[in-house]
Amino acid sequence: MQERDNEVVIVGGGAGGAELAVRLARAGCALRLIDQAATHVWKPRLHELAAGAARGELGEIAYRDLAEQWGFVFEQAGLVDIDPAAKQVTLDNDSRRGYRALVLAVGGVTPDLGVTGVREHAVMLDRSPDADALYRRFTDALDRAAAAEPARAARVVIVGTGLTGVELAGYLASHRHVVAKPDGDQPQTLAIHLVEASDTFMPGIEDAPSRRGARTRLADLGVSIHTGCAVAEVGADHVTSENGERFDADVTVWAAGRIGSPLAARIDALAANDRQQWLVRDTLQSRDHDDIFALGDCSACPESDWPATAQVASQQAEHLAEQVMAYLDGGSPSAFVFRDKGLLMSFGDGGDLGLVRGPLGDDLRIHGQVSHAAYRGLERQHQWVLLGTRTTLEGVAGDVFAALRRR
Ligand SMILES: Cc1cc2nc3c(=O)[nH]c(=O)nc-3n(C[C@H](O)[C@H](O)[C@H](O)COP(=O)(O)OP(=O)(O)OC[C@H]3O[C@@H](n4cnc5c(N)ncnc54)[C@H](O)[C@@H]3O)c2cc1C
Repeated sequence: MQERDNEVVIVGGGAGGAELAVRLARAGCALRLIDQAATHVWKPRLHELAAGAARGELGEIAYRDLAEQWGFVFEQAGLVDIDPAAKQVTLDNDSRRGYRALVLAVGGVTPDLGVTGVREHAVMLDRSPDADALYRRFTDALDRAAAAEPARAARVVIVGTGLTGVELAGYLASHRHVVAKPDGDQPQTLAIHLVEASDTFMPGIEDAPSRRGARTRLADLGVSIHTGCAVAEVGADHVTSENGERFDADVTVWAAGRIGSPLAARIDALAANDRQQWLVRDTLQSRDHDDIFALGDCSACPESDWPATAQVASQQAEHLAEQVMAYLDGGSPSAFVFRDKGLLMSFGDGGDLGLVRGPLGDDLRIHGQVSHAAYRGLERQHQWVLLGTRTTLEGVAGDVFAALRRR
C-alpha cells in the first residue's frame, strides 16, 4: 500500500466524520481528525443522557483510543478558519494544518430564531455538555418542586416537536422515578408541556401514522402537547406564546429545529446558505473548491434536499470514504445518492416505533421490542464501523442481557 502523509484532514468526528476517519484509515489513508471534544458520543441518544442515562450506557468513545486503534492522528482543537489557497486550516490552538483534501463535518446547532430570552434562559441539546447541564437543571427542578410548600409538580417546557423534542419529552417523562430522591418525603411529580409553532404535530415528519403514534405515546406518558403555539418570549421561569398563553417553567428546552454551524457564516472562503450550511455539489465537494468536501448537518446541496439526520451523515461518510481516495488518486468523485431507510423513534417507557422503508415501496411499520432492537441497531451499526465486530458483539450481548433483566 502506498504511504500517504497527512493527506486528509477531517474536522468534526461526529456521526459522519468519525465513521469517515475510520473507513479512510482502514483503507490506508494518512489522516488527521480534528474535533473540539475529547470524546465521541452518538448524538441521537443525547436526550437519554439528559434524562439520566449513565455515560457508560451511551458508549462514549475517546478519540485518542479510536486513533490508536486505526492508526490516524487525532488533535483536540476547534476550527477557526480555512485558507483554500494555502490549503491550510487554522485552529484555536494557534496551529495551522495543511491538507491535500479537507472534509468538513462539524455538524449543526439549534437556531434561537431571534426569540427573546432563548440564549439566556433555555437549554439547547446540541452537544454532550448540554445534556449534562440539562440533567442537572432537571434534577434540581424535581428537588425544588418536591421541597416546595405545598409540594408541586416540576414544570418542564420543551419547544419544538422535531425528533429531539419528542424523544426528550418521552425520556424525561419516563425517567423521573430514576432521578427522584429515594429518601424524599413527598412523591415527586412532573408536568411536561411540548409546544409547537405549527398547527401540525411533528411537522418535519411526512408520515402521518408515525406522527399519530408518537403523539399517542407521549399523551400516555402524561405529556401535554400544544400545537399552533409560537413562542414569543422565554423568561427565567416561564414561556409565553404569541397568542398570550403562559407556561410556568422550571426548565425550558429549546429544540426548535436545526441549522448548520456558526462557522459557515464566519468563514468567508466557502459559500454557505442562510441556514449556516456550506453549499456542496452532489459529489459533496464544496461549490468553490474541489479539494474541500462537506458532509452531514453542516452541508447542503440545493439540488438534493437531504434531511439533517445521522442516517444521511453516515451514508455520506461511506460514500466519501471511496470518493476521497479516488480524488487523491486523480479521479473524479461520483454523486452521492441518499437511500431513505425510514424513521425510528424511542420514548423510554412509552415504547418505540418505526417505519422501515423497503426498496420497492414495501414499507414496514414496527413497534415494541422489534422497533427497540432496530433503534439500538442504528447505533450498533455506527459502533461496528468505529470499533469493529468484536466490541460491537459484546455491546449487543449487553443489550440482550439488559432486555432479559427487564422482562
Ligand atoms: C437529541 C438528538 C436526537 C437526535 N435523534 C436522531 C435520530 O433519532 N435519528 C437520526 O438520524 N438523527 C438524529 N439526530 C440528528 C443527528 O444526531 C445528526 O443529524 C447527526 O449527528 C449529524 O452528524 P454530523 O456528522 O453532521 O455532525 P455531528 O454528529 O453533530 O458531529 C459534529 C462534530 O463536530 C465537532 N465540532 C463542531 N464544531 C467544531 C469546530 N469548530 N472545530 C472542531 N470540531 C467541531 C463536534 O464536537 C462533533 O463531534 C438527533 C440529534 C439530537 C441532538
